[in-house]
Amino acid sequence: MKPSAFSHLRADSASAAVQALKTGAKVLAGGQSLGPMLNLRLARPEALVNVSALPGMIDICEKSDKLCIGAGVTHARIEDGKDDVSLPPMMRHVARGIAYRAVRNKGTIGGSLAHADPAADWLTAMTALDAAVIIREAGGKERSVPISAFMLGAYRTVLDSSELLIRVEIRKQLRDAFWGYDKVCRKVGEFAEAIGALVVHPDSGFIRLVAGATGGPPLILTDLGASIAAKATRPARDEVRAALAARLTDVDDVKLHLMTTALCRAIEKVLPE
Ligand SMILES: Cc1cc2nc3c(=O)[nH]c(=O)nc-3n(C[C@H](O)[C@H](O)[C@H](O)COP(=O)(O)OP(=O)(O)OC[C@H]3O[C@@H](n4cnc5c(N)ncnc54)[C@H](O)[C@@H]3O)c2cc1C
Repeated sequence: MKPSAFSHLRADSASAAVQALKTGAKVLAGGQSLGPMLNLRLARPEALVNVSALPGMIDICEKSDKLCIGAGVTHARIEDGKDDVSLPPMMRHVARGIAYRAVRNKGTIGGSLAHADPAADWLTAMTALDAAVIIREAGGKERSVPISAFMLGAYRTVLDSSELLIRVEIRKQLRDAFWGYDKVCRKVGEFAEAIGALVVHPDSGFIRLVAGATGGPPLILTDLGASIAAKATRPARDEVRAALAARLTDVDDVKLHLMTTALCRAIEKVLPE
């Protein structure tokens, strides 16, 4: 199928983009999720506003204690790691596992977060790195939303239809964190059936254990994370499974098995013995 007719605006300022959004246009970033939806006519916007030329949208920079990643930065650029500002190494690993290179060349971190597919990688990775999402509101103000409060459910976020996700911020110190990220999928580069992520920064006492591809927002396992930090040992597989089962009451045994495996593998990468 082909998309229904739409007009296309390449916005050169955030205010022009927001103005278009206010009149019903939809944001187009890399088009890797929106393109198929248009072709299948699951989305039929009358206008698209391309935000890739907006100032700041493709910057990777440092601001005081934060690393700032523009929403329009592609997965491929994160994978390549050639920018002057280095990002947490886990991000290169995560980017490399998304789809295949042609998708990574176009797809963006902001597009992935805004699309909020529960099986997508960045939602879980950014939750593990305790990121904040910076949103430009219709009136021009910016607000910062912790990633843990950003996704409301499958394909649903706190973004209003006239708001733009403009960048992601991560604490600079997490560049040196220990990390484990494991994605279970049928073929390399496919969407995940289960994701486990663990980030530990001993100097600041930060530890975050996350299960992703839950069917909804990523799950932060605070108690199990705290117990790993306190004991500095790997929990038994049964303990991991029980922690997941207590929070994911509507998943079947196969899904629980995959989620447990992904989480145990992520933990093993940080605590090999
Ligand atoms: C074959 C294939 C395999 C894939 N495999 C994986 C995978 O393994 N893991 C994974 O994580 N992803 C995967 N993806 C998805 C890919 O990562 C997409 O790039 C991503 O989901 C969407 O990013 P995009 O920049 O292309 O956004 P688009 O498709 O352009 O937009 C997606 C949605 O987000 C909105 N949007 C985009 N940018 C903004 C913004 N700045 N502010 C507000 N709203 C915005 C759009 O309006 C649209 O609703 C795959 C895609 C394909 C086609």
